[in-house]
Amino acid sequence: MVKKDTEKKEMIFNGIPAAPGIAFGEVFVVNVDELPVTPDPISSKDIKPEIAEFEDALKRTGEELSELHKALAAEMGEDHAKILDSHIMILADEMMKDETIDLIKKEKVGAAYAFTKIIDKTLTAFEHMEDQYLKERAEDIKDVKRRVIRNLLGQKTEGIANLRKKAIVVARNLTPSDTVGFKRKYVLAFVSDTGGRTSHAAIIAKSIGIPAVVGLDQFSSHAKPYDQLIVDGLTGQVVLNPKPETVKLYKEAQRRFVEIEKELLTLKDYPAVTLDERLIELSGNIEMEEEVENVIRHGARGIGLFRTEYFFITRGTLPGEEEQYRYYKEVVKKVAPDPVLFRTLDIGGDKIAKWVDDSKEDNPYMGWRGIRFTLSRKDIFRTQLRAIFRAAAHGRARVMFPMVSVVDEVRQAIAICNEVKDDLKRERYQYGEDVEIGIMIETPSAVVMSDLLAREVDFFSIGSNDLVQYALAVDRGNSRISYLYDTLHPAILRMINDTVTSAHNAGIWVGLCGEMASDTRIIGILLLIGLGLDEFSASAYFIPEIKKIIRSVTYDETRVLVKKALKMSTSAEIIKLCNEFIEEKRPELLEYIPQDPISER
Ligand code: PEP
Ligand code: MG
Repeated sequence: MVKKDTEKKEMIFNGIPAAPGIAFGEVFVVNVDELPVTPDPISSKDIKPEIAEFEDALKRTGEELSELHKALAAEMGEDHAKILDSHIMILADEMMKDETIDLIKKEKVGAAYAFTKIIDKTLTAFEHMEDQYLKERAEDIKDVKRRVIRNLLGQKTEGIANLRKKAIVVARNLTPSDTVGFKRKYVLAFVSDTGGRTSHAAIIAKSIGIPAVVGLDQFSSHAKPYDQLIVDGLTGQVVLNPKPETVKLYKEAQRRFVEIEKELLTLKDYPAVTLDERLIELSGNIEMEEEVENVIRHGARGIGLFRTEYFFITRGTLPGEEEQYRYYKEVVKKVAPDPVLFRTLDIGGDKIAKWVDDSKEDNPYMGWRGIRFTLSRKDIFRTQLRAIFRAAAHGRARVMFPMVSVVDEVRQAIAICNEVKDDLKRERYQYGEDVEIGIMIETPSAVVMSDLLAREVDFFSIGSNDLVQYALAVDRGNSRISYLYDTLHPAILRMINDTVTSAHNAGIWVGLCGEMASDTRIIGILLLIGLGLDEFSASAYFIPEIKKIIRSVTYDETRVLVKKALKMSTSAEIIKLCNEFIEEKRPELLEYIPQDPISER
């Protein structure tokens, strides 16, 4: 029996704040573990009912899948729903059904065991296939197996897609594609045992505006269905079965949060300019077209990072030129006359597309990622570039290559852009002639070579999420070592400083599109202003706050601050320096620093 909340003990957990906001709700545990299946013998008279149960489980799984298909199509479009086509085909396989029934009869075993035995045979065959596409279908087979077994054993499938009422999703681990599939109207927040501030599931939470806390270690084993939960995405605190007085404290914190958010939104139409009139371009990060309105509503002038890979990740097949063109064109038209910065496909790391040869790599973040992938799959690269250049004819576009680590990659990519433009001209397509081309600075070698790279391109955008992980050798998604993932590490400030100097010496502009602009809050933004960045791009929610800070300080005073910070040897010293600056010079900014409601008790 489910205990009443009042009988349950309040438990407080501390994780990594990944997306801001405070949520209250019931726990929905996403159960991804396989259920144990044993070869229990059955008697002859049980054979018939066992087969009937098996058939019923197949039917129920089929209904579940088509419901999921329908929901996905309605929410994200028909193309996204195609991701389930192979699941539906696997389930409908008559041979698998017949062989399972034969085994039940012959060996007198339960349906779950018989089905596992048969489907595992197919699974092994698929896993050993040479053809990468077929190899990947193994994951789909596993999913179908899990669903049928759950239905057979009478357990409720706790897949995210089964969420039918508002709740907080609790999981051990969430992938970017899990989060893309969230039904926004039901998911109040999410928490996970694994993950870091800049793992891509966290980035999606920020983009869709739901609070999230990650890196909670063993939290999911404590949370049970129907438990009550508070998620504080500002401080990283999660309270299980809170006492009424705790709820009261958080309600107050939520009220403060909403009030500040409302106040900051009044800056929407004001420019991001410092008190001594240095204008900074402030734009938004998006992963999907649907986010454009939200970013503009928060006062961004243009898109400073369009992570185009999400369009590729969320579908079962590789999108063609026309499909991409139509999609990109919509974004360009919505944002015009401001620019849209298209980052070319950044597949790899934790962003895996179903149609890609994703044979497991030992170090995926250092593997076949970003520009490395697109330069070795030029067919995919060219198709995407054609679609982007054609979309550029409808407004303003910029193109940027991710994960650059050698000059030659940039030269090759630019040569392909030129070929693509020539082809489009010859084929009499309309396309953008004056598309600026830039690169992300997110590897240490790109920083060290930034003076030379700056001669090759029109702009730089610093990808702090990756730069921090590569420079400090800290996996950005690994919660165990997240204490080392430090955006304010002196090495990072020095690297940004070197990059800005190289860019300005070469007469090009330099922005930053990593989460640093949003995650380090006031301190990070003060330093980034003083470091001389020309542009910031961040998730929608943070844009008003960044604007507020820019409008509250002088460029000169932040330069003085940065000069001192660049001489310091630890981030603690840098934080102290910045806090003193805020307290002495700009105390009005203190109210934007999130407070922990429990310690205030
Ligand atoms: C980055 O690395 O900072 C970045 C913006 O790219 P992503 O987070 O998509 O890797
Ligand atoms: Mg990156």
